[in-house]
Amino acid sequence: MKVLIFVEQRDGKIKSSAFEALTVGARLAGSAGDAAAVLIGADTAALVNQLAGYGVDKVYTVSGPDFALYNAMGWAAGVEAAIKDFAPQVLVGVASPMGRDFFPRLAARMDAALLTDVIAVEWKDGALHGTKPMYAGKCRAHLVSQNCNLHMVTIRPNVMPAQKTGSGSAATTALQVVGTSAQSKTVEIRKGKSEKADLTEASLIISGGRAMANAENFKILHECADVIGATVGASRAAVDSGYATHDMQVGQTGKTVNPNLYIACGISGSIQHMAGMRTSKVIVAVNTDKDAPIFTIANYGIVGDLFQVVPLLTKKLKELVGH
Ligand SMILES: Cc1cc2nc3c(=O)[nH]c(=O)nc-3n(C[C@H](O)[C@H](O)[C@H](O)COP(=O)(O)OP(=O)(O)OC[C@H]3O[C@@H](n4cnc5c(N)ncnc54)[C@H](O)[C@@H]3O)c2cc1C
Repeated sequence: MKVLIFVEQRDGKIKSSAFEALTVGARLAGSAGDAAAVLIGADTAALVNQLAGYGVDKVYTVSGPDFALYNAMGWAAGVEAAIKDFAPQVLVGVASPMGRDFFPRLAARMDAALLTDVIAVEWKDGALHGTKPMYAGKCRAHLVSQNCNLHMVTIRPNVMPAQKTGSGSAATTALQVVGTSAQSKTVEIRKGKSEKADLTEASLIISGGRAMANAENFKILHECADVIGATVGASRAAVDSGYATHDMQVGQTGKTVNPNLYIACGISGSIQHMAGMRTSKVIVAVNTDKDAPIFTIANYGIVGDLFQVVPLLTKKLKELVGH
């Protein structure tokens, strides 16, 4: 089966979740000849080699100044050009903000079925089957895409691990696509200040809730995060109170995260917060209230004052990593 994988890059760096999409795509394709990738950006030449060993032996590139800044219309046009040349049955991408933005547009243009944000996917009996958590993670929907020429799927980051299967490099096909349109043009992208991994891709997260009490106090979380290379998140109560910025919000109306370790500090564990983090591999909760709901999903719970516990944790972690 022919599978095309959209490889997301930002600022000349391939997203780690794109390698997860490549792994899923190569597995669905079955044999390397049937898997191809598409890369879009101002200059993609230097990135193609990084795809070696992930089971694709053809890479479509869509490059040029039009593709310096992300634009849903331009990106959809770029992937569409690759679809027209490769004629895949399945297109795989990531349920990242970018994937969420332009995959629906592309699905509409291509009259394709789209399964979004799945945590498992397989091809069975001529149809694409996906599993998607719903209702704040309380249940899982089994989605089936069938009776169409093109099936599209976006996978949830940090769930299906990336795996190299060899070392073979891929042949490149450069596609000529006009990226900007009269309707929409990205003029500027204003980035957040943080150099840390985005919450949706972070493997270690330490989050603070309303109990942080003010923005200044978040520095104890940043100090701890710096020791282990974690990203700092927040509950909505902390964001709404102005202690943390919106891009830090985890939960139903914030980001869905899936780290190896999630440390929740002074977060009660509302349904809406847990919707965004309950699939974390290991959850540690620090809360003064032994009955806080967060403890029902925590692997490790510390009943205590975060202002005492977090500095102690930072000290211990420093000793462990030899700072
Ligand atoms: C439609 C909708 C969408 C929402 N989306 C989101 C979302 O995306 N993300 C989100 O987080 N929320 C969301 N919410 C809000 C959610 O319902 C909760 O109000 C919010 O998650 C509570 O945040 P919190 O746990 O930080 O605060 P609280 O619920 O007030 O909990 C604070 C906790 O800190 C503990 N505590 C106090 N002092 C200390 C201390 N010194 N040390 C340790 N622990 C201490 C307390 O025991 C308490 O458990 C949404 C709500 C709605 C209605």
